[in-house]
Amino acid sequence: MDKQKKKRILITGAAGFLGSHLCDRFIAEDFHVIGMDNMITGDLRNIEHLFKLPNFEFYHHDVSKFVHVPGQLDYILHFASPASPVDYLRIPIQTLKVGSLGTHNLLGLAKSKRARILVASTSEVYGDPVVSPQSEEYWGNVNPVGPRGVYDEAKRFQEAMTMAYHNFHGLDTRIVRIFNTYGPRMRLNDGRALPTFIAQALRGEDLTVFGDGNQTRSFCYVSDQIEGIFRLLLSDYAQPMNIGNPDELTINDMANEIISLTGNQSKILYVPLPIDDPKQRRPDIRKANQILSWLPAVNRKEGLLQTINYYKQLPPEELKQKKFTYYNQEQ
Ligand code: UDP
Repeated sequence: MDKQKKKRILITGAAGFLGSHLCDRFIAEDFHVIGMDNMITGDLRNIEHLFKLPNFEFYHHDVSKFVHVPGQLDYILHFASPASPVDYLRIPIQTLKVGSLGTHNLLGLAKSKRARILVASTSEVYGDPVVSPQSEEYWGNVNPVGPRGVYDEAKRFQEAMTMAYHNFHGLDTRIVRIFNTYGPRMRLNDGRALPTFIAQALRGEDLTVFGDGNQTRSFCYVSDQIEGIFRLLLSDYAQPMNIGNPDELTINDMANEIISLTGNQSKILYVPLPIDDPKQRRPDIRKANQILSWLPAVNRKEGLLQTINYYKQLPPEELKQKKFTYYNQEQ
């Protein structure tokens, strides 16, 4: 295809976990990809293989400030944001700004370029849900002033702002509510349960389960998540859509699975539960199934083995380094 005719897509958070996988996907689909990241939580190693390609460019920029991209844009994916509870505590103001001011800037950019924009929302908009599974119609149970409020409320504002641009300006918008997702390139030190448990098991340490470990989550492998997002972008569905894997389990069971898959002798160490930690989380994915013909395809064992292998091939000093967790921070 002629270079000029390639579809051009801006991906914010391009050096992050989901952002980098999206860059790969759209490069593979023969798009011209413009990555953007301010590198607060991103890692250039996730996209360094793309820098040599003629259809990839990268801007080091904070989308909370005015965003300028020369030339035509057909699509924008807004995936820039800290996404781990440990990060919200460390950088709460940036978390609020990227979801609110950053979204506003990108909606404005989409409007001026007449581009379609998809924003990354989250299951956190449901807060500590009192109904399960969570369907898109559920309005949530969020504490606006708790430690997670900076993320949850920024994302709720993001959804409101996106729908306002859609309804008032007729902008072509999509909203994906992403449930817990894991896989290669998720930061080993991001403090979330899965990378923390795998790192602890590989170091032969005990796994720090918060609270009694009976809280539940439902983990989606990254390739399934990317496929869902890709289909949603190309669909004509403008209402929020859940993408996640409904295979729910307790955090205790997850910890035990990781111990057995790594073959280590680690035990579980129970430590205090962080404030406002949701007790249950499971997506209702009937909409994604009906509208996008999408269902997750990778089972947990397969996904965990891929992820464990990825962490094993990181430089050994990275794994040895004692990582910052929620729990450490409270000590
Ligand atoms: N969790 C845990 N040990 C850890 C990190 C997290 O037991 O070292 C728990 C956490 O309290 C939560 C669940 O695992 O109930 C998932 O936490 P994560 O930070 O991965 O994401 P969340 O789904 O809470 O946003």
